[in-house]
This record gives sequence, C-alpha cells and structure tokens, in this order.
Amino acid sequence: MSKARLGDWRDQRARMIRGIDELTEYIDPLPRERAFFSHPFEGAVDFAVSSYYLSLIGPKPDDPIRRQCIPSDEERRVLPYESRDPLEDEAHSPLPRLVHRYRDRVLLLVTDECAVYCRHCFRRHLVGGKEGAAGRQGRQGRRGALTKKQAGAAADYLAAHPEVKEAILSGGDPLTLSDERIDELLRTLRSKRADLVLRLATRIPAVLPARITGGLVSVLEEHKPLYVISQFNHPAEMSEESRAALALLADAGLPILNQAVLLRGVNDRVEVLEELFHGLTAQRVFPYYLLQGDLAAGTSHFRVPLSRGLELVRKLRRRLSGLAMPVYALDLPGGGGKIPLTENYFVTDYETGFEPGSSAGRDGESPRGFHFRSLDGTVYFYPEEE
Ligand SMILES: *Cc1c(COP(=O)(O)O)cnc(C)c1O
Ligand code: SF4
Repeated sequence: MSKARLGDWRDQRARMIRGIDELTEYIDPLPRERAFFSHPFEGAVDFAVSSYYLSLIGPKPDDPIRRQCIPSDEERRVLPYESRDPLEDEAHSPLPRLVHRYRDRVLLLVTDECAVYCRHCFRRHLVGGKEGAAGRQGRQGRRGALTKKQAGAAADYLAAHPEVKEAILSGGDPLTLSDERIDELLRTLRSKRADLVLRLATRIPAVLPARITGGLVSVLEEHKPLYVISQFNHPAEMSEESRAALALLADAGLPILNQAVLLRGVNDRVEVLEELFHGLTAQRVFPYYLLQGDLAAGTSHFRVPLSRGLELVRKLRRRLSGLAMPVYALDLPGGGGKIPLTENYFVTDYETGFEPGSSAGRDGESPRGFHFRSLDGTVYFYPEEE
C-alpha cells in the first residue's frame, strides 16, 4: 500500500479499523480471530489498528504483525495467577494518572488511546479509548486524555518531590494527542521542573510512523532532555516509513531507546531477535530492554517460558555487540519493580562464599577469588583483592 493511499496521520487516525466488517476488507479473518468478535467478553481489550500497520501483514496465518494486532479468541483464557493490573500500578498511584513506584521516577498516564491496541498489552486495564470495553464501564479520572487540571496537579506533585528526576509519559500512547496538547503538557511540567529528564514511551514509530512529523519533532526538541522510548518487537516493523520516522527523531538529537517485549510466536527465535536488535542499532536506536511478559489477564498465549528466555538471551549475547544487546528484564508481579534477568556467570554463588582458587594458587597457597564460566563454557579465575 502506498504512502499516498494511507494519507496523513490525522486521516489515518480518523480511518482506524475498529470492527470485524472493516477488517475483512483488508484480510480474511481466521476462525480464532472471528470468534473474538462474535462472542464479546468482559475485560476484552479494545480493537483498533491503523491501515499502515495492517499493510505490514504478510500472507502466512502465523504472521508476527498479525499476531500483535488482530484479536484472537485465546485472549478469553485467563489463568489463576494472571491479573488486570499485574504490576499493581494502582497501589503506587498518589494521583489518578500518576504512578510513583521508584523513588526517582514517575510514570504519567497521559491518555488511554493508542494507534494500535497491542494484543499483548500489559497496561490493558488502562487502554481502550472512547470505544474501549473498560472505557464504557468508566474509570474515575482515567477516561480519555489527561486534563489541564490533572497536568497541573502532576506538575505540582513534581515540584513537591524534588527526589523525582525523571518523568515517563506513557499511556496509552502520548503521541495520539495533537502537537498542541503535547506541547502544553510538556510546558506545564517544565514550568515547575526545568531540570526534569523526560521520557516519552510510544509505540507510534512502529505502528503509525506518519505521526512523526517535522512539527512534532520541533515540539519535542524544545523540551530536552527528552528520551523517546519506542517499542519495536519484530524486524518486519522496521519499514521504510518507520526508519524515516526514527531518522527524524535521531537527527533532532533526541535519544531513542527501544523496549521490546518477548512474545511467543512473534519474536521468540534467536535469529529474529538478532535481526531486530541489530536493525535498531543501525537506525540509531539503542535496544534498552527485552521484557519478559507480565502476568496480564488473557496474555498467556504470548508468554515465553522464562527458562527459554534465558536460553535465547545466552545465545544472543554470543551474536550481538554490547551496543546491540538489551537487558532482559522482568517486572516482578505484585509491584516488586523491574529486575534484570541475567545468566549466572559465577561458578559459585558470590553471596555464599568464595571458590578456592585452585587454578591460581602460588606457593601452595590458594588466593581467595571468583571462578567464572565464559560464554563458551570455559572456567576462568579472578582474585579478590586483599
Ligand atoms: C518501568 C517503569 C519505570 C522505568 O524503569 P526503568 O528501569 O528506569 O526504565 C518507572 N516507573 C514504572 C512504574 C515502571 O513500570
Ligand atoms: S501502544 Fe502500548 S499501551 Fe497501547 S496497547 Fe500497545 S502496548 Fe498497550
């Protein structure tokens, strides 16, 4: 599909595909996709997708783009240990749209609308604009976009909490708002905290790249330091349009970091991840995180066993440079926060004691130290300084 046929981003937003009838004009739905629409259920995540993102879908039924944006009946299955709010954002929410879980960072939920509702979304209790299932039920103070009053309250909160060094604008997708709204919000925050490091978390470069316009970039540029956090999950998302959008951001001196989600049937193969992370690096995007799936209700068909994730990451480390290698991370269920998941390179647990340094002994004496297993499995010794 040509760019001209897709139109500018406002047209694309206005003409989002939101129902099964419209969808069938683009693709032939599979039985599991039809079944999602024919039997509505409580707590289902909204369906909406840009014609751009649909145009990336290939012919195979297990296409990775298709899996990320077309709902499936599998979303109906909720496991006992899954939750609508797996990270307990609500419990760390001093203001309606503000999550303050880490001392020095806050998350601001700017809007509940997205350009595409990702079927694997972890913040599913927060997304789903006007037509959303959750939206219909209504959530106090959470519908639609952040109001001026709420933005002012967030700015006051930041003024009263100088220990907060970073504000992460998330949602939903903040870039579904107009340039004017974004500018106004950033100005409001900046007026109280000129020193604040801003992060803008958005899926837009991957799902609606036409939204990244010169006008938007000039707005963002005015509010540096501002980091853009993208979410590319598969190399097929790195289209010509997406690469152009990333170049606009990078040329303006805005650092771009990517948070990919490890997704079964989408990117859970080492070759796919290697191509993704290398491709991002080549576009001046730093692969920041590879996130293990959260225990969000109805997403079990997307989760990769953690042991398999570790195995993938172990293989990736042998293929990728340090620059292209993300941190594999887990957001602990129940609000424990994010932790890096790394393979243990220590031969013995460093907390429970030192391994006698048999290989490095001198004069019959073994110095204290650590043994490590290298990537190819060889054991090496490093002494502990006295
Ligand atoms: C992920 C997250 C952050 C940011 O964490 P980093 O490790 O700094 O990227 C901040 N607040 C909340 C609530 C989060 O979920
Ligand atoms: S864009 Fe982000 S918030 Fe929106 S559905 Fe996708 S993952 Fe969820």
